[in-house]
Amino acid sequence: MTAAGFVWDPRVATHVYRDDHPLKPKRLIGVHDTLERLGAFARPDARVLTPRTATRTEIERIHDSDYVDAVMQASRDPGGDYTEWGLSAWGDTPPFAGMHEVSLLTTGGTLTAMEEVISGRLRVAFNGSGGLHHAMRRNASGFCIYDDPAIACGLLADRGMKVAYVDIDAHHGDGVQAAFYETDQVLTISLHQYGMIPELRRPFFPGTGAANERGRGRGAGYSINVALPPYTDGAAYQRAFDAVVPPLLERYRPDVLVTQQGIDSHYEDPLTHLMVSSQAREHVVKQFAASKWPWVAMGGGGYSMDAVRRVWSMEFLIMLGAPIPAELHDADPPEWTGDRRAQVDAAVDAAIAGALGAAWT
Ligand SMILES: [Zn+2]
Repeated sequence: MTAAGFVWDPRVATHVYRDDHPLKPKRLIGVHDTLERLGAFARPDARVLTPRTATRTEIERIHDSDYVDAVMQASRDPGGDYTEWGLSAWGDTPPFAGMHEVSLLTTGGTLTAMEEVISGRLRVAFNGSGGLHHAMRRNASGFCIYDDPAIACGLLADRGMKVAYVDIDAHHGDGVQAAFYETDQVLTISLHQYGMIPELRRPFFPGTGAANERGRGRGAGYSINVALPPYTDGAAYQRAFDAVVPPLLERYRPDVLVTQQGIDSHYEDPLTHLMVSSQAREHVVKQFAASKWPWVAMGGGGYSMDAVRRVWSMEFLIMLGAPIPAELHDADPPEWTGDRRAQVDAAVDAAIAGALGAAWT
């Protein structure tokens, strides 16, 4: 069965964090409209899914009740002071009116996708408004309010399933890693930019995600970090993915695959320094599609409106097993040569060795 679900509701594509904020939920309209124009939703295996609202109990699978109360208060009165909860007007994650309600819907979309996949009604379902992987138990972080990937993984684990979470956003999936750091029931694998940004002389957000963060206790070896250097190009990224992800998934043998597909790793993205191409993403996402496990897919970061539109459209077509029109691909993606090629390859080799060396045996 190849049926694929696309979670869609205009209500998750119209809220505004702040006028100058890089995360623009309206980016999803471009994905939806491109897929519609290409006839994707008219294909017999395509389903458009309406997100449900997450319940408070589901949110509290990961978040403290006090934090949910604070978000509800900020949602009603965004002018207050919520800095202790990671929300600040000029920070990464500003309070805004209605933030609680829309976050219940972005999380609920991931849970709708999860239920359709677990029931066997669909092979895969994609919630582009989800993938908010930085939110922590008691604080918002990095544009993320409720951690829908962690909530979904937690609820799947509660059903006794072994969960493999693979995060291909440019940033470390720190909130999800933290939630499952001491358990072997959720394997987290994150490929991300790591370390100092040379020209800015500051570490890349969120600063975690070194290979030696490998889990603790029963979870030792089940948090895997592929800490890539800035300016990793598509060829090197693809090599790192192939060396780490398929072998560890085969070794782990999950019951369900959960992916966070942030596209801020793309070379056009204004917030990051990875140089992933649409071609490299096609390679990676086709491997998820070729796997045999039920697959819950989410969006994540992505701050180039055009890269988001093209690549997530392409990725849903891959989920459908549909052909990919050339217009969705990068025309001329960058690729290193010469000394720079050798430098990037050596640093990526070290990232691969670190990740594989950290894994359980
Ligand atoms: Zn990101």
